[in-house]
Amino acid sequence: MVSPIETVLASVIRLNVQPSRDGSPKRHQPLTLLWAIGRAVRGEERMAEWPEVKRKVAGLIRQFGRAGDAATPHYPFFALRNTPLWELSETPPEEGTRHLTWLNSADPAIRGGFRPAIHDLLTRSRDAADLVVDQLLHDYFDGVDEAALLGAVGLTDTAAARRDFTGALTYEATVARRGEQAMLRRLLIRGGARCALCGAELPERLLVAAHIKRRTDCDERERRDLDNVAMLACTLGCDSLYEHGYIKISDDGLVELSPELASHPDLHDRASRLAGRPVAVWQDSSRGYFAWHATNVFRRQARDESCQDR
Ligand SMILES: [Zn+2]
Repeated sequence: MVSPIETVLASVIRLNVQPSRDGSPKRHQPLTLLWAIGRAVRGEERMAEWPEVKRKVAGLIRQFGRAGDAATPHYPFFALRNTPLWELSETPPEEGTRHLTWLNSADPAIRGGFRPAIHDLLTRSRDAADLVVDQLLHDYFDGVDEAALLGAVGLTDTAAARRDFTGALTYEATVARRGEQAMLRRLLIRGGARCALCGAELPERLLVAAHIKRRTDCDERERRDLDNVAMLACTLGCDSLYEHGYIKISDDGLVELSPELASHPDLHDRASRLAGRPVAVWQDSSRGYFAWHATNVFRRQARDESCQDR
């Protein structure tokens, strides 16, 4: 069972976009999606009239498209219907390129927009909308003035929230990582503000999104496997114990202590209450990530081995 937010993110990641003159992916579809997300967040009608889409999206392409890209909103308006995200109010009269001419010359009364379940999700959940915006910005808008772009699609709140956690609006690698941490945390906290390892229900500020498999060792697909690659861990000890390999989650989903704790009695005291706890986030879809941690991070030796200390 795939959740609607996963459907949206997966579709965004798999958007079939043409390369621009310099080889980078065109922004026609991403811009159309951002514009439609703005509409959903403002509670506007799901389907938009073609003449309006044409005017707005053409403006966005001119302002935020790649250098040399033509302002051709009819391409994304049609192309997006091949994704699970988008639909049109009627089938274009003909396939091929002639329907593009029809669309552009006659301004027919056709409307386009997100499919109902997607529009509902984005209207209902600001977290979901922000996640999709994050993904789009990350994948398609390197080097763009984000505040200006988000302002142009009516997502000024999102721009402000992003400034809060980035301190700047440039989208450099470190900033992208912090953005990802914030978005992961939001996603995870939706399931309840509870540490996955000790089970404590805590103020959100004491919980972080911890990568089950070390982030730098994840490939691109794994990094985006948001529902499975991360868990909430508390900053009161669980996050550090896991990150430094003093505990692992065994293949039956239980917390196991490192034998190395024998040489650190005080640390052992703190970790011992976790021993044998079942970890709710352990499931078939995340077991591979826990197994990676058990093999590569967990301290298997009884003695403190400096070679593992990195
Ligand atoms: Zn904890």
